[in-house]
Amino acid sequence: MEAFLHRTMRLDKAEMSIHRQILCHRYIGVEPNSWQMKMSGFVHSVIYQMPPQTFTFRFGQLRTKPPGAAGARGAKELPSRSRRATGELIASFPAMLQACLNGGLQKTAHSAVPVSPDELARDAAAVRAAGANELHIHARTAEGAETLDPAAVADALLAIRAAVPGMPVGLGTGAWIPPSGRLRHEHIRSWSTKPDYASVNLNEPDALEVIDILFSQGVGVEAGLWDQKDARRFVEYVDFKKCLRVLIEMIHESPASAVAYARRILEMLRHCKCALPILLHGQGNTVWVCVELARSEGLDTRVGLEDGLTLPTGEIAPNNASLVSAALHILDPIRSAAETKSRSAASP
Ligand SMILES: [Zn+2]
Repeated sequence: MEAFLHRTMRLDKAEMSIHRQILCHRYIGVEPNSWQMKMSGFVHSVIYQMPPQTFTFRFGQLRTKPPGAAGARGAKELPSRSRRATGELIASFPAMLQACLNGGLQKTAHSAVPVSPDELARDAAAVRAAGANELHIHARTAEGAETLDPAAVADALLAIRAAVPGMPVGLGTGAWIPPSGRLRHEHIRSWSTKPDYASVNLNEPDALEVIDILFSQGVGVEAGLWDQKDARRFVEYVDFKKCLRVLIEMIHESPASAVAYARRILEMLRHCKCALPILLHGQGNTVWVCVELARSEGLDTRVGLEDGLTLPTGEIAPNNASLVSAALHILDPIRSAAETKSRSAASP
């Protein structure tokens, strides 16, 4: 594998050792993540500095741990669709586009925001068809309020997984979600059906406790950084390398300052030799500038009604799938054109 990294990626020895660790961590199954996420994490981490293009990797000599192996809740077998013949996997860049379907948004803000498990499942299928790789959702009560209650979480996850088998899905864990603050820890500890990962805001007082609880539950962690203070707290956290990825979340700033803040956080993470995959996203009027920056920096990104209702043209998006299509058009015009072609070929 080192020879592969050295020859194909032209990485130096120090980088190879980092990426080899990531490979083992993400792909072999130390983390309880599904295979797509490990692949995107690996692919992204190994070649995050390379320009957008398509590579083919052959993993015929790799072995995944069998499901249930020590230290792995779900080191799943690769789906046969992707294992055919030599075990060849094709990674296209950017490695990962996540769809954030609902956040805390109500239908009064946008009629197409998915709230019930059925609506989430339908939207998951639609965004996958539009080119999204992963999902981020906020579970809801029957009344539509955000919740981390185990039954509501299970209902949402089971419906989504039935609709889009194998598509990684994560949950928001914001401290505002009832019963809020540390009272929500018990809900997280009690999840019987677990997300593939959950996001944690590093600016919340109990962030490190929530991360520890998620680790103990075998749930991957997305560490959400809003500014350099969060980034500092994150890299000083002893187990930060065990996280699945970093989210750089530009949520309060104008487009110009979002870019400047994001670059400063990126610089700090790189200075601290943080080799985790990075997902950059904006909110409101910073969504599309962050997608552009993610593309130019080779980072993962996300779009969806949670982050912003408008398309790059400024029009209100009809639904999540249209936001994903617009993002894909910016991130990967070749893949976008191919997906549009196959969709129109499939429709009568
Ligand atoms: Zn969220």
